This record gives sequence, structure tokens and C-alpha cells, in this order.
Amino acid sequence: MDTLLPDALLRLRDIADALVVDVLLPAADAVDANAQWPGAAMTALAGQRLTGLTVPKSHGGLGQGLLGLATITETLGRGCASTAMCFGMHCVGAAVIAAKSSGAQSARYLEPIAAGQHLTSLALSESASGAHFFLPQTQLTATDAGYVVEGTKQFVTNGGHADSYVVSTLASSVSANGDFSCVVIDADADGVTWGAEWAGFGMRGNASRPMTLEGTLVPPDNLLGTEGDQAWYVFEVVAPYFLTAIAGTYLGVAQAALDITIAHLRSRRHAHSGATLSEIDLLQHRVGQMWTSVARSRLLLQHAANAGDLGSAEALTAILACKADAANAAVAVTNEAMTLCGGMAYRENSTLSRLLRDARASHVMSPTTEMLTIWTGRSAMGLSLL
Ligand SMILES: Cc1cc2nc3c(=O)[nH]c(=O)nc-3n(C[C@H](O)[C@H](O)[C@H](O)COP(=O)(O)OP(=O)(O)OC[C@H]3O[C@@H](n4cnc5c(N)ncnc54)[C@H](O)[C@@H]3O)c2cc1C
Repeated sequence: MDTLLPDALLRLRDIADALVVDVLLPAADAVDANAQWPGAAMTALAGQRLTGLTVPKSHGGLGQGLLGLATITETLGRGCASTAMCFGMHCVGAAVIAAKSSGAQSARYLEPIAAGQHLTSLALSESASGAHFFLPQTQLTATDAGYVVEGTKQFVTNGGHADSYVVSTLASSVSANGDFSCVVIDADADGVTWGAEWAGFGMRGNASRPMTLEGTLVPPDNLLGTEGDQAWYVFEVVAPYFLTAIAGTYLGVAQAALDITIAHLRSRRHAHSGATLSEIDLLQHRVGQMWTSVARSRLLLQHAANAGDLGSAEALTAILACKADAANAAVAVTNEAMTLCGGMAYRENSTLSRLLRDARASHVMSPTTEMLTIWTGRSAMGLSLL
């Protein structure tokens, strides 16, 4: 499948692979056990300029699109899903800023991001609308001094660790093009406070915390695009990048579980038969199904990402499908791996138990698997998504 990837991307993947071995894997158990944000891994990714992955080359970044994001999040997801998600949400935020950036936004955000000196993240979800991430209630009010933002975001990955946050709001005026807007809010802006530390069942390094914005003043320059740019942001930029980053991460989780399973079945030998578990045809069959599920999901993700990068008319349907498919693959493959690896896997704090817990978040991370599957059907039939 490497033949589907351009050489420049393969070189970036090699860099990410080396970081997985040297930094992500050695820290993954502690990140999980202590619900600890993966600071060392994020610093290492910035040091290699990978945090500039989705920043255009014209702003000093690596100029990668959806295929690049899919490939690097999958690679990182094999080592530590929390790191892959923290990296992925940063890259989505950077892509949203880059999509219609002004000169001021480029100088303040994109160039430092490209230089590995600025971390951003995505703050869309709210309790009031739950899985309907595209329906924010956060208020944006235009004043003479700029915009004032009021509201509470939930599950903000990299919460309290990023330098800025891409925040969705209601549009401030009825004359706007649509109902919603997007602004960048600096971490040190007045009125930004953080709720409880993140202590998830899985994805425990994510720092996905609640963020309250009370009378937060945002300079006019920090409005992304124009007021009410909702469809553009949600379905043309936010959703493709968001879904690709999540799909890549969970595909990495599935591949890691498959790798552990194969290694276990090849090495575990029974005394009574003298044979390894890999010689039992029922287990060969089950591994065959797992392998097919992961390979199929990767091909769908690569197809979707490539179509998105090319601006193909079919891209949206495939992009909607690929996150749902990766979620189904990750949950099914980690679950199956737990069975095939027996008591070794069922030990407290086994790597597979971490992968299983991490995989479970894939269905609830919005858009949920069911929503996406309905949208895939709608898109395939030429119906509007909402
Ligand atoms: C680890 C993790 C990281 C996250 N990171 C981010 C982030 O960085 N930025 C961000 O903005 N958000 C993030 N989120 C939030 C996420 O995207 C969802 O918005 C959030 O999980 C929704 O939770 P809820 O309980 O409010 O959902 P609810 O709306 O209460 O839904 C609960 C369940 O009901 C079902 N359901 C609800 N509505 C529908 C529907 N219309 N059709 C079918 N089924 C439905 C689904 O099964 C859903 O899981 C993260 C979440 C997690 C768990």
C-alpha cells in the first residue's frame, strides 16, 4: 500500500515512525496510567516540524493535505492514540486557520505553527448540542473593540496546553451569510478558564477538558473568514480534516492491535501439541478477518483523503464513510485481539487493554458512527446532509 503514497509523504512517515519508536511508545503506558498530556511527544513532533504538517508551504509549513494527515495520524496512532489525537486536533485547527488566513493570522499563527513554536486545537463541542458539533450555542457579540465571546466548550483536546484554540460560535449579526462563525482565541485571553482535568476511560492523555469563555475579548483579526462562514468551515474544511485525523488515529490503534495479535499467536506454543497458536486454522481465519478489516479501512481512508485533496466530487461521501469504517474496524479488531491473546491481554494495564479503551472513543467522537453512516447514505443519494 506504500505505493499509493508519494515519496515526500513516505519521508515524513519515516520521521514519524522514528518518533514512535524513540518517544511515543516508551511513554504510552505512563500517558495512559497517569492521564498525562503527552508533552514530550508533542515537543518532539514540533522539533521535527511535523506540527506544521497542514500549514501551506507558502507560510513555511509542510503543505500536506488530507492524505498527509491520514498517514501521519495512523503512524502515531500505532504508538500512542492520545498523542495522535492531540497532534491531529492541532493539525485540524491549523488547516482551519490556513483555509482563509489573513496576513495577520499568518504572521501570528501559521508561521509560528510551521516553525514548531505554536500549538493550536479545536473547540467545537458543547454540552447543549452534544454530538451535533456543528450547532454551537457560544455567543459572539461585535463591539467597537472587537468580538466578545461567551460560552462553554466541552472535550477540548489539548485543553490548557495549546497556545490558541479554534472556537465555533453563533454568528454575531443577522446580516451574516450563515448562522455560525469561527474565531481563534489565545490561551492567555481574559475570561478563559478550564474545568476539571480529563480522566477518560480511554484516550487518557488527551486533556479533553471543558473551556469556559466569559466576556472574552477577541481582536477583529481573529475572525476566520467572514461572519457566518459556516458551511465552508464545517463541511469543506473542519469535517474533512477532523474526520481524517480521527480515522487515521483509530486505524493506527487497529493496526497496533493486529500486530500484537500476530506476534502473540506466532510465539505462544502449547506443550501438549508442540504447536504455536498460529497453526490453528480457526485462529488463522480470525486473523485473516482482522487483517482484511484493517487493510480495507486504510484503502478507504487513503481513497477518501486523496479524493479530498484532488477536490473530487465523490470525496465527501468517502470522507464521511472512512471515519465510521475506521471506528468499526478499531473497536472490532481490538475486541477480537483481546480474545485471541487470551490471559496475556486480560492482565491489568496490558497494551491491548489500553488499545481497547482508546478504540471505544471512536464511536462517540462526533460525528458518531451512526450519524456518519446516515450522512454517507444521504450524500451517496445526492440529498443534503442535515
Ligand atoms: C476522547 C475525546 C476527545 C474529544 N475531542 C474533542 C475535541 O478536540 N474538540 C471537540 O470539539 N470535541 C471533542 N470531543 C467531543 C466529541 O466530538 C463529541 O462532541 C462528544 O463526545 C459528544 O458527547 P455527548 O455525550 O454530549 O453526546 P450526546 O449528544 O449526548 O450523544 C450521546 C450518544 O447518543 C447518540 N446520538 C446522539 N445524537 C445522535 C443522532 N443525531 N443520531 C444518532 N445517534 C445520536 C450517539 O451514540 C452518541 O454517542 C471529544 C470527545 C472525546 C470522547
